[in-house]
Amino acid sequence: MQMTKGKQLYEGKAKIVYATDDPKQVIQYFKDDATADNAKKRGSILDKGSVNNQIASHLFQLLEKEGVPTHFIEQLSDREMLIKHVEIVPLEVTMRNITAGGICRTLGIEEGIVLNPPVFEWHYKSDELDDPLINDDHILYALKAATVEELALIKKLSIQVNDFLKAYFAERKIDLVDFKLEFGRYDGQILLADEISPDTCRFWEHGTRRKLDKDRFRRDLGDVESAYQEMLKRVVG
Ligand code: UDP
Repeated sequence: MQMTKGKQLYEGKAKIVYATDDPKQVIQYFKDDATADNAKKRGSILDKGSVNNQIASHLFQLLEKEGVPTHFIEQLSDREMLIKHVEIVPLEVTMRNITAGGICRTLGIEEGIVLNPPVFEWHYKSDELDDPLINDDHILYALKAATVEELALIKKLSIQVNDFLKAYFAERKIDLVDFKLEFGRYDGQILLADEISPDTCRFWEHGTRRKLDKDRFRRDLGDVESAYQEMLKRVVG
């Protein structure tokens, strides 16, 4: 589809959003820039933008087929995705199937413990506050960031996403350890937004537990680019 890229509306840590001729549609451009620890660590991962766009585009299309409404319209190019112009709900959902990262720090537990059923978390999307862990009452009564109905729907959709992705990655010999989702409002609907990629998920090779995600960058484990390429091959290839 021909789509004219208009002015830049927003630049985030890993993506830039551009206007189009249609105010209801925007272009999400994926950069190679990488940050960790709330942008205290900065760098670049060669071709990450292209890999993440391809992985996210592929997964959004599969999730749509599963009945999860998303902001995805179409992949325009290597690094560009045409999306519905949503209003992002300032919440981050984290779904955890295996302990790692934040849950180990918060609860003082080891990495690698299987969580069944999975653990669902809300975080308040705020760089200044370091995306704190919050509960339903914080969202409903203190922040007034969403309605009871929206929270119920977001939770239901997140569980559906986890069920689907866990099985999808298992077939590709990948353990889906955890991931982060964001949702947006669009025409009275709640849509899955942002991206699903090695930046926003933890992926461990099944059996070896080799990390194939942004933890390689966060922890300076080396072979960062090849881990992203490996995930692209497993997801799309
Ligand atoms: N995550 C993310 N953006 C954030 C924080 C976390 O995409 O701002 C992802 C992260 O890649 C991981 C999951 O959400 O797959 C859970 O992250 P966690 O809460 O363990 O925080 P971290 O250890 O990454 O700081």
